[in-house]
Amino acid sequence: MSNVLAALASKIEQSQAPAIDTPDSSISFFEWLHTYAMVKVGNKFVKYSTKGRQPLFVVILIIDYVLGNDISYAPAEQRQRILGTTEYGKIIPDAQIDVCGGAQFGKTILALLLKTYLGTVQFRGMMYCLPDDDLVQGIIDAKERPEVIDQIAYVGEMLQIGKTLTASGKAANRKGAMLYTNGNTSSISMMRGLGKFPTTFSCDVVAVDERDDVREEFADYLPGRMTTSDLRLMLNIGTQRYHGAGQNRLFEEGSQHVGAVICPKCGRRHCLEEDWPGVVRMSVTGQPAPMDPVLNEAGVFTIHGDTVAKYKPEYTYYFGCVACGTPLPREEVLYEARKPEQIFNRHWSVRVSQMCCSALNVSMFVADWCKKRKKDNRAAFACDRLAIPKSSNQKITPKILDRAATVDPYSMSMQVNDKLHRFGGLDMGDQCWLMVRELDGRFKRLQWAEAIADSDTVQRSVQLFDALKLDCLFIDAGPLRDTTRAIVLALNGCNLVDVTVIKDWEKKRISFPGGVTWDGEYGRWLGLKSAAVEFTGKPGSGIKQQARLTPDNNHIYPVISVNRDEAIQGVIDELLTAEDGFAVIDEETDTLRTIPEFLLPKSGQDEPGIVETVREHLLCGSRKILDNDGKEEHFIDKVANHLLLAATYARLAEMFSGVLSKRTPFACSQIRRNAPGERQHPRVF
Ligand SMILES: [Zn+2]
Repeated sequence: MSNVLAALASKIEQSQAPAIDTPDSSISFFEWLHTYAMVKVGNKFVKYSTKGRQPLFVVILIIDYVLGNDISYAPAEQRQRILGTTEYGKIIPDAQIDVCGGAQFGKTILALLLKTYLGTVQFRGMMYCLPDDDLVQGIIDAKERPEVIDQIAYVGEMLQIGKTLTASGKAANRKGAMLYTNGNTSSISMMRGLGKFPTTFSCDVVAVDERDDVREEFADYLPGRMTTSDLRLMLNIGTQRYHGAGQNRLFEEGSQHVGAVICPKCGRRHCLEEDWPGVVRMSVTGQPAPMDPVLNEAGVFTIHGDTVAKYKPEYTYYFGCVACGTPLPREEVLYEARKPEQIFNRHWSVRVSQMCCSALNVSMFVADWCKKRKKDNRAAFACDRLAIPKSSNQKITPKILDRAATVDPYSMSMQVNDKLHRFGGLDMGDQCWLMVRELDGRFKRLQWAEAIADSDTVQRSVQLFDALKLDCLFIDAGPLRDTTRAIVLALNGCNLVDVTVIKDWEKKRISFPGGVTWDGEYGRWLGLKSAAVEFTGKPGSGIKQQARLTPDNNHIYPVISVNRDEAIQGVIDELLTAEDGFAVIDEETDTLRTIPEFLLPKSGQDEPGIVETVREHLLCGSRKILDNDGKEEHFIDKVANHLLLAATYARLAEMFSGVLSKRTPFACSQIRRNAPGERQHPRVF
């Protein structure tokens, strides 16, 4: 306790009546919840319970463990499985716990109850962050006061709402502040909106509610608020709405605790939310049988693929083994970490799926699934109930990437096939990212990807250009303009011709040593080996090329400008097929394309990390957000999307090289055929 708080506590002690009877300070959060807390069910309040809400039990257990509390309420086997140890009783500093929903799993009430527990039992301060300041008073008035303060008698007696302490120890009014005191000891908690940078307030625990709505740069400042604490616990609680971003990114980075249910007959492990909908069966008689029909994507019940029944409220629905049909013991859901090594980095992430809450009825899910036909409703079902992000704004999903890695499985390697052509893209920044793709018939295989420190970029990219026998490398024009120019000049041999000696060079035909030509008559480049790419083009303006002078006016080099959204969409389209609702005619077969063009290597031990990073960048960057005036959607910027951009540059390089005569952007290559009755998906290039 700080001196300021001690001074206030003693002042209050002198002036006030007997101390309030508070819970024993050794009580765990779990016990406290089950002793004091209430939850609103309909219009009634009932005692808080984790019964039938297995994911919440897991979250509470982890919180208690990190706080150094008594967790003997969990069996040793469970402690080992979830915490990686059976021991407890010591504070685990610098932990991060990410609670990843699902909707309506009681995340806000859990965070408010934790704030109260920390404030009144452990006398620790929590900063509870909401996406916006406007939400603060609403949560206090509509949720915290009626559901926490008014329900737990001793809390109301200990609490002064809106009070905090000044530096000199005087009580002051402040919106969102809570001062708890029992006459001897005090603590302050704070509720804040993160619409701006978090200001000075020190605490032991920071909790962020709805991380997806908080700007990352503001969230980055939050751990700094806990510098003076011995605990420094970071808690992120929210719905996962986008793959690879916000709350889902936290889930991916953490321990990935998810529930498993094991078939009592054949032993198959199920993850109910990932096995949905094929894990649901219908029984007309109410007695499960092995041949009961299975729920499908379309919301009907099938046997061996034939539709046999539609949803009716009076039938019985249950989770059944996808292999043998045996009813699954849903109440015996086992939470396990998919990345157990993250437990030792003290980074827990828990997926809170409604499927894993045995108190919630399967019939409710089935009714919801079978009623909802619209695409957006499927997204809501996935986000809210399965706790698996699905957004109509995000074109690429993990499933789409898995498909690109299984069409023709291969491993990434620097071994090149001399008969094939390879093209590279380089995204520039503090770290530079290279992607090389190999053209093999209709496929573009990811051949190589690499992160390069900016200081090595010129040397390393020229080295890789030679080693991987690239035909052409396109490079992000900014932010390292000098570096980009140096590589482009070197690869094209443009640095070997001084244009100051050529009169009217713009109109002339200049051939550089190595085969690159500036064709001034038509204002185009031929046989390019490299170019700088600028995202300056307006939508629909196609690809523009120019010869630009170096700052000393001695040399020219190629600069390509395109519209950013259209260029990125080009790569994303290569990953999509008719299955995703993307209709494009396969140029070889003249039919609707059913397999992706852009293939990925399988991720495995051979290439630790980089293949996973490629996937993350493709996911993260494929999300579209509205621009500031709320009118147009653009691919998200300033996120980990570097290898998606590198792929975008590589694709442009392919189109310019002239190797694929059908695809060169010159002349009349933009004419494309439509299949009879098939609407042509707009292609930019
Ligand atoms: Zn089974």
